[in-house]
Amino acid sequence: MTGDRRHQVVVVGGGFGGLNAVRALAEADAEVTVVDRTNHHLFQPLLYQVAAGILPPGLIAPALRSVLKEQRNSRALLADVHELDLANRLVRAQGPDGRPLELRYDSLVVAAGATHSYFGHDEWAAFAPGMKTVEDARLVRDHILSAFEMAELATDPRERAEWLTFVVIGAGPTGVELVGQVAELAHDVLPRDYRSVDTTEARILLLEGATAVLPPFHPRLRRWTHRRLEQMGVQIRLDTMAVAMDDESVTVRGPAGEETIRARTRIWAAGVRASPLARMLAEQVDTETDRAGRVAVNPDCTLPGHPEVFAVGDMVSLHELPGVAQPAIQEGKYVGRVITARLAGDERVEPFRYVDRGSMATIGYRAAVADAFGVRVTGWVGYLAWAFIHVLYLIGWGNRLGTLYTWARALVFSNNRGHRIITFEEATDQCLHAQRAGQRAAPSLRPAGGAAGAARRQKG
Ligand SMILES: Cc1cc2nc3c(=O)[nH]c(=O)nc-3n(C[C@H](O)[C@H](O)[C@H](O)COP(=O)(O)OP(=O)(O)OC[C@H]3O[C@@H](n4cnc5c(N)ncnc54)[C@H](O)[C@@H]3O)c2cc1C
Repeated sequence: MTGDRRHQVVVVGGGFGGLNAVRALAEADAEVTVVDRTNHHLFQPLLYQVAAGILPPGLIAPALRSVLKEQRNSRALLADVHELDLANRLVRAQGPDGRPLELRYDSLVVAAGATHSYFGHDEWAAFAPGMKTVEDARLVRDHILSAFEMAELATDPRERAEWLTFVVIGAGPTGVELVGQVAELAHDVLPRDYRSVDTTEARILLLEGATAVLPPFHPRLRRWTHRRLEQMGVQIRLDTMAVAMDDESVTVRGPAGEETIRARTRIWAAGVRASPLARMLAEQVDTETDRAGRVAVNPDCTLPGHPEVFAVGDMVSLHELPGVAQPAIQEGKYVGRVITARLAGDERVEPFRYVDRGSMATIGYRAAVADAFGVRVTGWVGYLAWAFIHVLYLIGWGNRLGTLYTWARALVFSNNRGHRIITFEEATDQCLHAQRAGQRAAPSLRPAGGAAGAARRQKG
């Protein structure tokens, strides 16, 4: 208790870190408020399946308040946090209608995750959407499906080839999973659905600045993934960076020099940076952020000089842990336990210890790589391990069973993608969005002749 009121815990973000912190506070003598700018907890590892039309978003994004309905000491608020005032112990946010909210806290947990990083080229966001939210995944799906529709309408072979060229930038797990899905759509799922266009003619490229796909994985798994993607018809360009972009093309620089690839679909899976709230915290406690914008925290996930403020997940740097789900989950649970123990009068806090549970990625149906506890598997076995773990970590039996059923229907029994709905308006939006963005861009960002012109100018 603080004075005559219960201890107030405010948790910013209901993702992996935030939600696990809230749940670990179930027995605490506290009132817990989780504030998120969405009303759901998103299972990001399966977002690419929404983009591919396999899963509907509801199965991987349950409403936060339904997840927390049995936890009587918690509540969820839909608001956008814009200020963390550590001196006055206040969180300032804005409701969807613009109304200001001030939340007073005794303990604060910040778990606001990360967002895309275009490496200093924020203007590329309009030409190469990334995937972090349900909305992003829907847009990517609309874009991919609209491209096939446009290819069916196009009569000029050059234009059709442009609509059928898909470029995924970044060959980490997200890029690999996404490019695999585009290849399966083009080569296995869609061919019999189209009449004028042969979708198997689609050109699908994966660009990676490093010298291998899945850079953090073991070399054997990287080689397997590379071979498998090539078998699926993906052209892989390693040691290759995007250097310019417009609404119809991407210019790349690789071992063979510069080339402009005409492609109407470009998807960004190359980089992330921490939520801007990480910098806001760092400035107030006079500490640095790293290159990815992450704030350094103490070994117990608190901020220097503020034992009542914790930060976890993708927005923090601690023991060089990667920005994946397990560190966020484990840190969130740990912080919830620490606050609960403190409120029960136990101040002895063990530092956070990470248990590495391995990593995995799917390449396509029946093809995945997994590396856990020293065991490395590929293919079918990897796929089963991947599917088991991902279903296990979904929230609620309804979502788990729904996902298994939808997978069986989409992948095993019908080889179809059941969630492919787009409207004329959505397709129009996708076709014109990047074009309008290109027209809006400053002349220096969009030289005459598009990216090709930009590349020529850079060379000259
Ligand atoms: C496409 C994709 C695929 C991935 N695949 C894998 C995978 O296969 N395996 C794996 O381990 N990891 C994967 N990851 C990474 C993993 O999802 C993240 O590491 C994890 O979600 C981090 O948890 P977090 O709690 O730090 O952030 P998040 O889970 O991102 O949660 C942050 C929350 O904060 C909210 N928020 C942000 N800013 C504000 C604000 N100002 N006000 C209010 N709310 C705010 C957001 O809405 C969000 O709900 C993937 C990520 C992506 C994007």
